[in-house]
Amino acid sequence: MIVVMGKGVTEEQLDHLTGLIKKAGLKVHVSPGTTKTIVGIIGDESKIEKDVLESLDFVEKVMPIQKPYRRASREVHPDNTIVDVKGVKIGGNDVVVIAGPCSVESEEQLYGIGSRLKKMGIKVMRASAYKPRTSPYAFQGLGVKGLRIIQKVGKELGLVTETEVMDTRSVEEVAKHVDMLRVGARNTQNFDLLKEVGKVDKPVILKNGISTTVEEWLFAAEYIMNEGNNNVILCERGIRTFEPMTRNTLNLSVIPILKDVTHLPVIVDPCHAAGKRGPVPALSKASIAVGADGLLIEVHNDPEHALSDQSQQLRPEEFEKLYAQLRGVAKAVGRGLI
Ligand code: PEP
Ligand code: MN
Repeated sequence: MIVVMGKGVTEEQLDHLTGLIKKAGLKVHVSPGTTKTIVGIIGDESKIEKDVLESLDFVEKVMPIQKPYRRASREVHPDNTIVDVKGVKIGGNDVVVIAGPCSVESEEQLYGIGSRLKKMGIKVMRASAYKPRTSPYAFQGLGVKGLRIIQKVGKELGLVTETEVMDTRSVEEVAKHVDMLRVGARNTQNFDLLKEVGKVDKPVILKNGISTTVEEWLFAAEYIMNEGNNNVILCERGIRTFEPMTRNTLNLSVIPILKDVTHLPVIVDPCHAAGKRGPVPALSKASIAVGADGLLIEVHNDPEHALSDQSQQLRPEEFEKLYAQLRGVAKAVGRGLI
């Protein structure tokens, strides 16, 4: 159920209401909005009487939640969620471009790429230390050593950092070293992992699975939010289709759909969608045009010799050119770009 109250609701009134709900053994999701304050009731609703809630004079109305996912639904949180990762706001008016190599390979490599990105004005750097590789014989990532490098380079260059977490056992370690976690496509429905990252006080980028529906993806977000972490950013990274000309097919239509049904920020990873660098500029521009709140783009100083994803990472000069063009696209749709 959703309890709707006017803007003027006091803290005592809100405490009274949430107290009643919690006493009935239910969870609450409070969303103070610009015109209304909305309280979502999560759990077995038969435990609380709708009439009791409606009888409170500061309550405007009580309605059922239509969508099966609750915390992620716009019904319980009409305003956009803006995720603040160390001062960088994702989901606000500025489109946020996150860039960096697929994998951290060495300190020199990450420092070299990071310093070029920093000079361009990029604020958030990506780099993976744990790699979900199709082949067990492919480069698996530097692990903890890689996390230390990401932390060191991020600190030296003043860049916000993000990296992938693959295993429930390493969530704490990863969270100690970076500013934002990423759950990749192979783990979108790894429910134990989702619950663990939900307990962490760091934002989480949650990619769609290779074949998840929008509803399944939002349920995955719900697993994270249910543990208390509401700072979830959805990242579209392509879906597997019959088309062999690209590694995956970028699902551009999912962006306006998500913006309609959820308040969570939505970003796009055009590199893992395409699997090759050629289409990345066009897909990046298209993503902003259809409403993406950000991009996650792979940039490598020497992609031909990269230890992973050689064919899709942009060279720094290619990225710099694209980054300048993206500002124009963002402006055309009334947004800034950082
Ligand atoms: C990545 O971003 O490094 C990655 C492995 O992507 P995905 O999970 O989308 O395959
Ligand atoms: Mn990659």
